[in-house]
Amino acid sequence: MALRFYNTLTQQAEIFSPLQDNVVRMYTCGPTVYNFVHIGNLRAFTSQDILRRWLRARGYRLDHVMNITDVDDKIIRNAAAAHKSIFDYTEGYTKAFLEDTATLRLERPERLVKATDHIDDMASAIHKLEERGYTYRSDGSVYYRIANFPEYGKLSHNDFSGIRAGARVDVDEYDKADARDFVLWKAQKEGEPGWETPLGPGRPGWHIECSVMAMKYLGETLDIHAGGVDLIFPHHENEIAQSEALTGKPFVRYWLHSEHLIVEGQKMSKSLGNFYTLRDLLEKGYSPEAVRYLLASVPYRKKLNFTFDGLKAAATSIERLRNYKIRLETSKFPEGSNEKMTERTRAAQNAFEAALDDDLNTAEALAAVFEYIRDTNTAMDSGEFRAGNVQEALDYLARFDAVFDVLCPSASAAGLSEAEIEALVAERSAAKKAKNFARADQIRSELAEKGVVLEDTKEGVRWKRL
Ligand code: AMP
Ligand code: ZN
Repeated sequence: MALRFYNTLTQQAEIFSPLQDNVVRMYTCGPTVYNFVHIGNLRAFTSQDILRRWLRARGYRLDHVMNITDVDDKIIRNAAAAHKSIFDYTEGYTKAFLEDTATLRLERPERLVKATDHIDDMASAIHKLEERGYTYRSDGSVYYRIANFPEYGKLSHNDFSGIRAGARVDVDEYDKADARDFVLWKAQKEGEPGWETPLGPGRPGWHIECSVMAMKYLGETLDIHAGGVDLIFPHHENEIAQSEALTGKPFVRYWLHSEHLIVEGQKMSKSLGNFYTLRDLLEKGYSPEAVRYLLASVPYRKKLNFTFDGLKAAATSIERLRNYKIRLETSKFPEGSNEKMTERTRAAQNAFEAALDDDLNTAEALAAVFEYIRDTNTAMDSGEFRAGNVQEALDYLARFDAVFDVLCPSASAAGLSEAEIEALVAERSAAKKAKNFARADQIRSELAEKGVVLEDTKEGVRWKRL
């Protein structure tokens, strides 16, 4: 089966193919850098990472642009309260964002672009919209007249035809009930930062940022645009209105939206105060891989209910995967190769691929892997799994890990010294002698968690780092 994505625009699962060659031109809405990102935001970015990795696994090259929103109402307000310029204020949070995403092993997009580096491009796009009659001015600000774009509402599937013409909204975030003409350029207010442009002194609205930066780097029609479901309206609806009014061409071919991470039934968000940052969870002792696994394990179009039990279960799943890999690498299996096992590996690989091809169904993909592990563990116990089957199983795990990326322990957890390892190995041997197998197994898992593999040989225990 071919790779398929659910397209918010058409409300259908569609077979994916890029417009040109095998390069996927993709844009994702990045963070507004006025605070640390929370794991709700990181869920959206993690699903985009899975998307990136699966597209590559399917042979595509990527040209992926992500924006950093480094000017908006919240940034201006917070920077003023901190007595900092918006540049000084956003710099630290941009750095923190890059650190957090690296900790979660999210690949860097090919281009990370800042709104404030593109003010002139935005001003000239707004000027072009003015020339085409899509705008009007009021008190030095420029607004987009949605009545002049009859297709307004086609992404969010709302009928806005009865909307009161001329009513305006100045804030960037609002919901359907407030659908109005939206602001493209905000006149500079007393004491606020602004840029001198032919439009007059001011700053861009949030929506124009993404239209301009997306088309500057990726051309007039993108293959994929992704973001959280909260961005469908108004942000992405407005991006379409702006971009298509500028070019007369379809702006995006596939719109992919990820559902929210929720806590006790509510969206995790800064304004509700019900959020955890990645840093909070690491401080509580959870590993970045466990957080990554949890965020990736629920298919992106389903809500993900965050609980600490879920996070613990994620850590346990990773341990099972690592122990399985250790078993493959250190056990002595009977000579030869079992064709039935080769078949089993091939079937597991196919199931894994079919699940991800099906609109990135990560839950099904993980189920395929764990079923395979259970079956082959049983086959190892019974002697059916042979030495000649090891490499294909390792290859399968490697393919899994190219997408999920949880097998290798993070450096922060792997900081055991040789002396510490030797001490644990000795303690394990003593525990085994005393028939305290529970403790012996616990030490083996503890070492595995930290990337140390044990091998029981006739000469004693050998260990190596993964
Ligand atoms: P923001 O910095 O608020 O613009 O958000 C950055 C990204 O995180 C956007 O794609 C949002 O849709 C997404 N996002 C915000 N809150 C959540 C949440 N609770 N669950 C999932 N994604 C979210
Ligand atoms: Zn955007």
